[in-house]
Amino acid sequence: MNRGFTAEIYLNAISHNLKVIKDISRNLPVIAVVKADAYGHGAVKISGRLINDGVEYLAVAFTEEAKELRDAGINIPILVLFDPDAEDIFKYSLVPVISDKKTAVVLSKEAERRNTALNVHIKIDTGMGRLGLTGDPVKEILEIAGMKGINIEGVMSHFSEADIKDESFARMQIASFNSVRKELLQKGLNIRLFHIANSAAVEALPESHFDAIRPGIMLYGYSPVLTSNSQLIPVMTVKAKISALRRLPAGAPISYGRTFVTKRESLIGVMAAGYADGLSRRFSNNAEVIVRGRRVSVVGRVCMDLTMIDLTDIEHVEEGDEAVIIGRQGNESIDAAELARRADTIPYEILTSIGYRAKKVYY
Ligand SMILES: *Cc1c(COP(=O)(O)O)cnc(C)c1O
Repeated sequence: MNRGFTAEIYLNAISHNLKVIKDISRNLPVIAVVKADAYGHGAVKISGRLINDGVEYLAVAFTEEAKELRDAGINIPILVLFDPDAEDIFKYSLVPVISDKKTAVVLSKEAERRNTALNVHIKIDTGMGRLGLTGDPVKEILEIAGMKGINIEGVMSHFSEADIKDESFARMQIASFNSVRKELLQKGLNIRLFHIANSAAVEALPESHFDAIRPGIMLYGYSPVLTSNSQLIPVMTVKAKISALRRLPAGAPISYGRTFVTKRESLIGVMAAGYADGLSRRFSNNAEVIVRGRRVSVVGRVCMDLTMIDLTDIEHVEEGDEAVIIGRQGNESIDAAELARRADTIPYEILTSIGYRAKKVYY
């Protein structure tokens, strides 16, 4: 029997969110970020829908993620953000992001050996402090441009804030990116795609859009911008099954550490999902789920595979009923942003933690 921990993925919401993004960015090319299994939504299915909707470029974190997409028959360009593996880059026709000259040298040699040319994107560090050329990026890019078998299709950078609270720092990053861009164009380099905009910048900083945008979280229905009034729709609904119902007297301790004790005679439901499923232990006594259209509280510590909820005020609840962890039921809704606030994290982590583990069903 299915234990009922499922992530329902609504592909129409992906299409809708892509349209919102397209409208904001006046139809610029979208490099759709589908790393981490499309933020837990399933990269193959999500990519398929995006391609159907006209997306012409995907981005993943690691080469092995790109291999999975190629093996599933996806044949549009895929940017590999973080670990260009020379062998596989050629074997699977991938586009590596190059963050240092020595990687460029390796890829150039491999291209020569194969008697072919490779499209690459070069990353410059404008303030993220993670990867990318520092120092004199123009000089290094010119050197890389001179290497045999290397065709620089794009130059990119990344914002150091996913929500761009500090616009002045983001503007400094844009200015420094733009000055490199201008210099390269002046020097006659024919580079097609300059890109820096993550979701927050897509929404909040139109001057960052350049030739293409690189949204991730927006595709999945969440705005990183707190003051956003965008019309995004969450793509993932998460449900668990109530596998047992127990009537307990007042004064009954619930779960590890007895951090919750019933104050009245209570009906306690046991949900078949726990922190091994990505429901953070931080939700202990600190989250709600929706049962029969009403919000109920998580009581006691979240366990590895089980979580208790207080159903005392719900009428007609039965074993086997569903509990909505993320999603909408009746007039109530809970999203990953609410869970993120409770767990002191960001929706990205909630979606990837749960999405990786839940059985996914596509609609
Ligand atoms: C993850 C990532 C993105 C997408 O960021 P969102 O905030 O999800 O839009 C874009 N570019 C790079 C380099 C990334 O690592």
